[in-house]
Amino acid sequence: MPTKINTVSVLGLGAMGHAFATNIIKNNFTLKVWNRSEEKGKDLVEKGATLASTPAQAVEGSQVVILMLADADSTVEVIKQTIDALAEQAIVVQMGTIGVEATEQLNKYLKENRPDIGFIDAPVSGTKKPAEMAQIAILASGDRALQSQIEPVFAAISKGSHWLGDVGAGSAMKLVVNSWLIGLVQSLAESHCLAKQLGFSPETLWSVLEGGPLAAPYAKTKLEMIEEGRYPPQMQLKWALKDATLAAKAGGEAQMPNLHSITALWQAAVDAGLGDKDLSVIAQYLEKQ
Ligand code: NAP
Repeated sequence: MPTKINTVSVLGLGAMGHAFATNIIKNNFTLKVWNRSEEKGKDLVEKGATLASTPAQAVEGSQVVILMLADADSTVEVIKQTIDALAEQAIVVQMGTIGVEATEQLNKYLKENRPDIGFIDAPVSGTKKPAEMAQIAILASGDRALQSQIEPVFAAISKGSHWLGDVGAGSAMKLVVNSWLIGLVQSLAESHCLAKQLGFSPETLWSVLEGGPLAAPYAKTKLEMIEEGRYPPQMQLKWALKDATLAAKAGGEAQMPNLHSITALWQAAVDAGLGDKDLSVIAQYLEKQ
C-alpha cells in the first residue's frame, strides 16, 4: 500500500506557487510554505498554512516538497538549503520551468546527497488563472512507483497529469509546449499590429475568428489584454524569455529560426523594461517600434 500523503510544503509563492498552495490547503493537506519575500505567504497563514522563515524549516517533516521558483539557479540555491532537513523518504516535486539539463543535474544532486528522496520532474502547462482554478496540466516524469502517492496532491492543483517517462521527459515536453505557446503569442502580437495598420479593430479581428478552429481561448484572453493596454502578469515576459531561450537552445537554430528571432526580440523588450509585465506586452512593444 502506498503511503498516504498528508503533509506538503510549497517553496516559492509567486503567481503559480501561491495558487498551488491555496488549492493544496483547500484540499485539507497540512501545508507549510516559504517564500523569499515573506509577505506573499501571509494570506495563506490565515487559511491555515504555516509560514516558515527558511527553506529548511519549511520542509521539515513534510512528505512532499513542491518547488515552484523562477528558474534553475533559484531552484538549485533553495534545494541546497533544504538538503539535510528533508524528511526521510520525502518526495521532491520540481514544477518550475528549468529545462532538461538543470532537471537532470538536480536529480543527480539529490541521488548523491539524499538517496532516500524521491524526485519527480513535473513542470506545468497553464498560467496563473488556470492554476488558481486547479485547471493546469502537469507534465510528470520520474519514478512511476511514486505516481499513486503523488496523484492526490496533483489532483488538488491540476486538471490532470501526463506521465511521460524518465526524469527530464516532463521538462522536455514543457519546452515543446512552450515553443507552441511562444509562437502563438508572437503571431498574435504581429496579427494585432497588422490588423491595426490595415484599419481593423481587435474586436473585428476576433469576430472573424470566433467560433472557428483558430479561436483559441488563450488567444482571446491575450487579445483582451492587448486591447485594454494593461498587462498584469499571468506569465511575466522575463520568464517567457527564459522559456523561449531554453526551447531555442534545445531545438537548434536551423530547425527553429522563428524561435531564435523571437528570443532576440523579447530580449530587447525585456531590456526596454517590460520584463515584469505579462508576455502579451510584446504587442505594445512592436507597435512602438
Ligand atoms: P513569479 O510569480 O515571478 O514567482 C517566482 C518565484 O520565485 C517567487 O516566489 C520568487 O520569490 C521566487 N524567486 C525568484 N528568484 C529567487 C531566488 N533567487 N531565491 C529564492 N526565490 C526566488 O513566477 P511564476 O509565474 O510563479 O513562475 C514560476 C515558475 O513557473 C517559472 O519557472 C515559470 O517559467 C514557470 N511557469 C510559469 C507559468 C505562468 O504562466 N506564470 C506557467 C507555467 C510555468 P519573490 O516573491 O521573493 O520574488
